[in-house]
Amino acid sequence: MCLICERIQSAKKGENPYVIKEFKNSFFVVGDHQYFKGYCLMILKDHVEDLTDLEEDVQLEYMQEVMEAAKLLKKIFKPVRMNYSCLGNFVPHVHFHLFPRYEEDLRLDETKNPWHCIDEFKNHTINEFEARSLAKLIASSF
Ligand SMILES: [Zn+2]
Repeated sequence: MCLICERIQSAKKGENPYVIKEFKNSFFVVGDHQYFKGYCLMILKDHVEDLTDLEEDVQLEYMQEVMEAAKLLKKIFKPVRMNYSCLGNFVPHVHFHLFPRYEEDLRLDETKNPWHCIDEFKNHTINEFEARSLAKLIASSF
C-alpha cells in the first residue's frame, strides 16, 4: 500500500490528525511541515496514478474540491499567490500540494519554485498536536 493510501485509510477511520475536511473524492489535509504557512494537500481517496486516468466527472469534481480548499486557504492566510503542485514522482497517487506564497519567501529564491526550498521543509515539521489544532482552525473557517 502506498504512503497516501495509508493516510487515506487512517483518515477514513478518523485517526488522522491532519484531516481538515472530507470531500466526496478527496481529503483536505494539513501538510507535514509549515515552511509555507498554511501548506496543505488535497489527496485523492482512490489510488490513481495520473489525473488523466480519472473519469471525466471525477476530474471536474476533484478540481472543484481543490479550488474550494485553495479559496479557503487564501481567505485565512492571505498569501500573495497560491502555488499548485501535482507531480507524482515520489508517491504516484494523485494529490495536489497547495503552497500559499508570501512576499518574504518569494524574495528568497529567484526561480520562485517552492520545491527549491525542500531542504528547509524538515526544519519546519509539525507534530500531531500542532497538525490537529491547525486542521481545526482551517476547518472552522468553512
Ligand atoms: Zn495510493
